Amino acid sequence: MSTSTSLSLENHKLISPPATGPLERLRMAARRGTTPPPRISVPDWADRFRKLAREAGSTSGDWRTSTVEIARGPMLAVTEPGVHVLTVMCCTQLMKTALLENVFGFFAHLDPCPMLLLQPKEAAAEQFSKERIAPMVRTTPVLRKLVGTSKTRNADETLLFKAFPGGFLALAGAGSPDNLARRPIRVLLSDEVDKYPVTREGDPIMLAEERTATFGANWLSLRACSPTVEGESRIEKSYELSDQRQASVECPHCQHRLFLDFFRHVHWEKKDGQHLTKTARIWCEACGVAWSEGDRLRALRTVRWHQARAFECCGERQNPLDTYERSWRDGAADPIATAWDWWSGDRWAVYRARCAHCGCRAVDNTHAGFQGGKLFSPWPKDKPSDIAQKWIDAQGDEDRKQAWWNTQAGRPYRPNTTKLIAVDALAARAEHWVPGVVPDGVCVITVGIDTQDYRLEAEVVGWGRNEESWSIAYEVFDGDLSQPGTVNALDHFLKRIWLRADGRGFEVMAVCIDSGGHHTQAVYEFSKKRLGRRVWAIKGESARNGQRNPVWPAKRPTTKTKAAFRPVIIGTNAAKDTVTRRLGLTVLEGQAAPAGYMHFPADRDLNYYAQLTAERIVTKEAGGRKYRVWEQIQGRANEALDCRVYAYAALCGLLQMGLKLNQRAEEAARSIRPPKQDAAATQEGGPIAGKPVRILAKKPAARPPATDAAAPTAHSMPVEVVIASPLPAPAGRRSLLSRFGRK
Ligand SMILES: [Zn+2]
Ligand SMILES: [Zn+2]
Repeated sequence: MSTSTSLSLENHKLISPPATGPLERLRMAARRGTTPPPRISVPDWADRFRKLAREAGSTSGDWRTSTVEIARGPMLAVTEPGVHVLTVMCCTQLMKTALLENVFGFFAHLDPCPMLLLQPKEAAAEQFSKERIAPMVRTTPVLRKLVGTSKTRNADETLLFKAFPGGFLALAGAGSPDNLARRPIRVLLSDEVDKYPVTREGDPIMLAEERTATFGANWLSLRACSPTVEGESRIEKSYELSDQRQASVECPHCQHRLFLDFFRHVHWEKKDGQHLTKTARIWCEACGVAWSEGDRLRALRTVRWHQARAFECCGERQNPLDTYERSWRDGAADPIATAWDWWSGDRWAVYRARCAHCGCRAVDNTHAGFQGGKLFSPWPKDKPSDIAQKWIDAQGDEDRKQAWWNTQAGRPYRPNTTKLIAVDALAARAEHWVPGVVPDGVCVITVGIDTQDYRLEAEVVGWGRNEESWSIAYEVFDGDLSQPGTVNALDHFLKRIWLRADGRGFEVMAVCIDSGGHHTQAVYEFSKKRLGRRVWAIKGESARNGQRNPVWPAKRPTTKTKAAFRPVIIGTNAAKDTVTRRLGLTVLEGQAAPAGYMHFPADRDLNYYAQLTAERIVTKEAGGRKYRVWEQIQGRANEALDCRVYAYAALCGLLQMGLKLNQRAEEAARSIRPPKQDAAATQEGGPIAGKPVRILAKKPAARPPATDAAAPTAHSMPVEVVIASPLPAPAGRRSLLSRFGRK
């Protein structure tokens, strides 16, 4: 087999002709000294043998494939003659996990062999073993008898190794190549493939697939994931290399087959600019009838899968879906038959693409790919009206839009982040509120601190509903944390109670302080003494592969001993994705700010915004996989961005600890009283005018046109600030402006 490592996912072994037929199978079986497996399919196996834990309210403990009919196709492909690779790119909670479970059960019971199940990390592999494999084995009698019994139990029988007579299931994290290079395996199950790292040795799936080499005739590799970002998603790339199967269902009113598509088939009423998503239905493109929910569920029972990959035959490039569309619009008697051939046996069933001219089967099935979204889900929470509402809710928010495409449509998302955000446009949208005063929408305050060699920079960020945020203050401290003066100044600053206009005080709830650079120990000492106040020493991840780890690690930092004090490693790539996306959000005229919107006070200058946008995303390639990393634009300082990333990480840390942000925001909003005469005036850097001030919180000032950036905008407050001529700094501390004002 090939030893080259610069291959795409595909080049590997697929050139050898697939061996099929009962004779070959018997020969292989005889060679292994086993009897040939009974000829049933994976869904038939599950219907006959698999049992489910009886949940409250459920009447049966039997598995029924027909409950989620869309999942039958991928399961059938496991025993479809010729298929060696299976790619399943789908929305969440539709067919992926059940497929992995049933394939494991089928092979362990009927066709035992060495199997490997990959998860992105070892912890995820353990979790899958505990939460998926173990309960399935426990409730399914035929498996309970075979898997992990005393007969087969041996020294390495663990969470990550399940033995059964004639084979085993090993579970491993894709990040450790050693795990991938040990034993030969026949069936490879790769779950969550978009989260796999690229290791020094190459792509984990390729490495693992090389281990199937000894099973020349009947190896199988299954790759499954919800897609992520277009052009980088591993599952998307794998699907593109497959025969690209799409699912159709039959209209209960006219028997026309529809390839359900949200934008094409789901429609709802609009009234006075309002989207009445409750009225969202699937409309048949052929007979024009809107389906009731009962119609939809009836239609879902008629799912069939079709090879949809474009091909060339008889001197013409043909796209099966286009051929079908033309044919039914032309009124052909059997439009399906012009594009596909129904090919089925006792354990497979699929519409094979056919040439419209010569009728040959034009698309190879060695690699069977499946793609599907929530429109095929039978669950009540996935009704078209729910999907439509999620779509409306996601508008204006790149994060939620990506989530919608990935988890609802089961398709990769084309991101909007590559366009650079104009610095002057950001400056122009700054809002006027009294510096240092907490805007009304705020309920939680965090601080992010960037550590430089001879100075510290800190941003105080107020957070509100749906992570809407207000930059409350930005401070620069000369010196470093080995100097008592600097320690005291910073400590004093972090203890400050920030006041809302009505006098309510807010403490800083969490702080993230950068421990990279030359003062690591001093930062550790500083935060160690203040852990009770949630002053956390952090370090940005070194994810050179463009990995997207969670902003705040899922595992809580171990606090074994004080000596073993370690910084929290934060997912800076993901944090920068989010911050940059949010910088691109805008408030539409007359509407509330969207989720995650970032408000800035008018006392920041252009340099501040230049720092916030000092990094851009670049696409790189390694091991045949594209990935995106953040890179500093040459000659641009980026402290302001780092501070915001750390303040956001602190919020993520709080959320991880159980903070209920929106609940708190509501509580904070309820407590707002009419402004107190002397409230804001009692604090440092209070209002310039003695008059009570109502803070602009929910409704930012209308955005002036960019050309007017330097002119004061109309506002209700007597604040003498324009963007270009900042306030004087409070005595005793250096203002951020002296820094940003510098070239
Ligand atoms: Zn119809
Ligand atoms: Zn042809």
